Amino acid sequence: MDLEIRADDPLSFSEELDENGFPLTSSSSSGSDEAESTSEPRSGNDDPPHKLSEFASDFYTSGSDCSSLLRIRNEKKNGLLVQKNLLQMWGIAKSEAAETSESRVCTENRKRKWKGKEQGDVFGLNQKKNEKGKKPAYVQSRSCPFYKKIPGTPFTVDAFRYDAIQGCSAYFLTHFHYDHYGGLTKRWCHGPIYCTSITARLLDTCLSVNQSYICALEYDKEYEIEGIKVIFIEANHCPGAALIHLRLSDGRTYLHTGDFRASKSMQSHPILLNYHVNVLYLDTTYCNPKYRFPSKEEVIAFVVRTTHKYFQKQPKTLVVVGAYSIGKERVYLEISRSLQVPIYTNASRRRILESFGWSDLSSWLSNSSHSTPLHVLPLSFLRLENLNKYLATLNQRFNAVLAFRPTGWTFSEATGSKLDLIKPTSKGNITIYGVPYSEHSSFNELRDFVKFLRPDKIIPTVNAGSIASRDKMQALFNNWLKS
Ligand SMILES: [Zn+2]
Repeated sequence: MDLEIRADDPLSFSEELDENGFPLTSSSSSGSDEAESTSEPRSGNDDPPHKLSEFASDFYTSGSDCSSLLRIRNEKKNGLLVQKNLLQMWGIAKSEAAETSESRVCTENRKRKWKGKEQGDVFGLNQKKNEKGKKPAYVQSRSCPFYKKIPGTPFTVDAFRYDAIQGCSAYFLTHFHYDHYGGLTKRWCHGPIYCTSITARLLDTCLSVNQSYICALEYDKEYEIEGIKVIFIEANHCPGAALIHLRLSDGRTYLHTGDFRASKSMQSHPILLNYHVNVLYLDTTYCNPKYRFPSKEEVIAFVVRTTHKYFQKQPKTLVVVGAYSIGKERVYLEISRSLQVPIYTNASRRRILESFGWSDLSSWLSNSSHSTPLHVLPLSFLRLENLNKYLATLNQRFNAVLAFRPTGWTFSEATGSKLDLIKPTSKGNITIYGVPYSEHSSFNELRDFVKFLRPDKIIPTVNAGSIASRDKMQALFNNWLKS
């Protein structure tokens, strides 16, 4: 269906946009929790000016819906599409601050608190202005990128670093990774945060976010928020991660994947089967043909196999699994089950893991580093010298360390899915394996998901900071949707 032109949307764009509706100083990628080895997204301004129109054209003519574009083509100026027209096409118009409407699913208590705040008075900073009446540089807020605002709704997704966003009355959080929740603190007061119940508990446990702002939604249950039908779908990423499915009253349907690993089972989800998606906001972390890594199951089997092999050689081996604050749980849970040993983590990680409410995981957790040969440590800690020092603190309880760094970034084309070819890094009695265990979609999984969903339009949310990168992805999308 056509995307209607609407001029009555509450979200307004306060940031500076180029003529094509993209932020002038774009940092348009959401980044990724797994993006540790990628460079920061480049600004669109790094690209030659003539490329701007090229991207905009591809972007807006992709998919089957180009009727809106044709309507505004006559108003092109100097070969470039005019910003206001594109914004209109998206159902977004520059508007006065919209009245915030009330959510039907949040408490009166929360509404009172939020409505009591003046939107411009972020964190009470108006009282902290310096002599010239300006906020100190360190508190000046950034502009919210366009792709975090959902057209035709007063919703934003994973947009907490931008203070109060004008016109936004519902802040969605896809999952509890820092590059998505960044900006949320116990002082949050800009509006209700919609997330899954695991994420809700983490917001409380880890950040002490005021509970009156947290609205937990169940998976696969339809809610009506601000007149829009909202359904969360399990994202196959970290615990509590959700795809957000939105159906507007005019029939427009959006799917925001947050971070996800597309799977075959998603293709039989009734919501994804039954509703045509007009716009797909896609986690494009590995949207490059070189990333054809194996399934999680294959990687876990390799990790368990390797662990047993080392234990046979050296029974006093300490197994270390690197992990983010959340994510990668299945890797160490499977080692734990296979060796029948508990999992040691520090107190803060234990608190996080216990908050999931998974009895099979909670029952395996230990608070004693000497009592089990399976430890979970931060991914960034897994370096030869660090592990050497760590081993020394354990008073000769263990003789060697076998460590796993489970992240898609460790994937190498040379190894491909032949995991037994992985060469570990080792020095003395410390061995580190990088294993391509990814909680983001591989290239083929992304392609299959897009071909299944066949959306009218795709907006990449990761690695989309440069025009060259967006062009490349757009060409791939066009190709997928053609065949
Ligand atoms: Zn993530």
